[in-house]
Amino acid sequence: PPANAEELARAVDRDGVEFLLVMFVNLHGKACAKLAPAHTLDRLLGEGLGFAGNAADGLGQSSADPDVVAVPDPASYVRMPLQENLGIVQCDLQVGGEPWPYAPRGILRRRLERLAGLGLELKVGAEPEYFLVRRTEDGGIRVADELDDAASPCYDAHAATRALDHLTTVSRAVDALGWGNYSNDHEDANGQFEHNFGYAEALRTADRIVVFRHLVRLAAHRAGLVATFMPKPFTGLTGSGLHLHMSLWRDGVPVFAAPDDPRGLGLSQQAYGFIAGVLDHAPGLIALTCPTVNSYKRLGAGAATLSGSSWAPGYASYGGNNRTHMVRVPDAGRIEVRCVDSAANPYLALAGLAAAGMDGMERGADPGAPVSADLEGAASVPGAGPLRPLPPTLLHAVEALTGDGVLREGLGKTADGDYADYYAAVKRAEFDDYHRQVSEWELRRYLQV
Ligand code: GLU
Ligand code: MG
Ligand code: MG
Repeated sequence: PPANAEELARAVDRDGVEFLLVMFVNLHGKACAKLAPAHTLDRLLGEGLGFAGNAADGLGQSSADPDVVAVPDPASYVRMPLQENLGIVQCDLQVGGEPWPYAPRGILRRRLERLAGLGLELKVGAEPEYFLVRRTEDGGIRVADELDDAASPCYDAHAATRALDHLTTVSRAVDALGWGNYSNDHEDANGQFEHNFGYAEALRTADRIVVFRHLVRLAAHRAGLVATFMPKPFTGLTGSGLHLHMSLWRDGVPVFAAPDDPRGLGLSQQAYGFIAGVLDHAPGLIALTCPTVNSYKRLGAGAATLSGSSWAPGYASYGGNNRTHMVRVPDAGRIEVRCVDSAANPYLALAGLAAAGMDGMERGADPGAPVSADLEGAASVPGAGPLRPLPPTLLHAVEALTGDGVLREGLGKTADGDYADYYAAVKRAEFDDYHRQVSEWELRRYLQV
């Protein structure tokens, strides 16, 4: 990636890019952008591009506030594969020439700078899942492929083959971005897919998730379909996760790896500290990794699915190579955080995870022995006692977040207090709005009460 303004100008020139999507995400992880001709690049880098922060939503502004100014980060530049005269740059936000504390990308950046100050680098690999659907006339959704109704759809070769145009379009695009696509599959639910690509430094992977969602949506749209990253679009099917594989590095040496781990998972004491921190802060962390009302319909064994397994955690637990835990240890030297869902704002989720994990490491915390039991449907583990359940709703998670000093500190401060309080206020309003809607379920349950 371009290291500075000159290199970015050269890359834009080399790629024959005519327009730039000048992009950032708001609190909800929604990609916001303006389109600027590439010949304005000098101006963009010098002055940035102004946005009405109130209209972009979730940026801590009201309508009378001065513009939020988006300044491109040269290192985030990519040429958009499905639209080759287009480049995308992710921006850092400023107001009045100062970094704007409500910008999710800035929040993660500052968190990572703290790690860098300790000589540490966080690397992250992401596993995005989503559904391909069609809108129906009654305002609902159906799986895009009408034949895609297998009782056991995971890895279904036939369903994947019927989606070949889409899968190969996305695979080629991911390769063209230079991220190294190595797998594309049909997931556990009808109409659900996942694509895998290489891991990278945390900020880079967060940027990639934003670009990935953007290009998958575009590919689907061109085929007359909708790609949805909603965490649980169908009541009876598994939801969509965004598993994050995390490892810490010091001078190119993996900090989480230890061949002599007495627990046999190939993890160092620092890795166990990190896991303990993530599990200890799970209730508040979930507000960041599972940020929608809908997110809580995906989590846990209560989530009805075709196979009977949701593969999404219900408890703050870790195990070895077991997919029913919040933290899985797939290999020596890295951990997979499985609670994160496809609607997560990757910057905020990673900022929270980094803060929680570092807290555990710094305290020398230990998560205890890995739980070997399969937790699908379980509430206690023989010998280990009851498990700590994850919050049942967004509101519970948000309350936990506001009471968690480490996460509050991890998200940073605004002029009006902690960002965590702002986040909580936005999410409480979202929950309230949902809670006031009368649903089909209520009619079925209470009409003749
Ligand atoms: N779809 C599951 C989730 O919601 C994950 C399935 C898998 O292990 O890939 O997290
Ligand atoms: Mg998966
Ligand atoms: Mg996974």
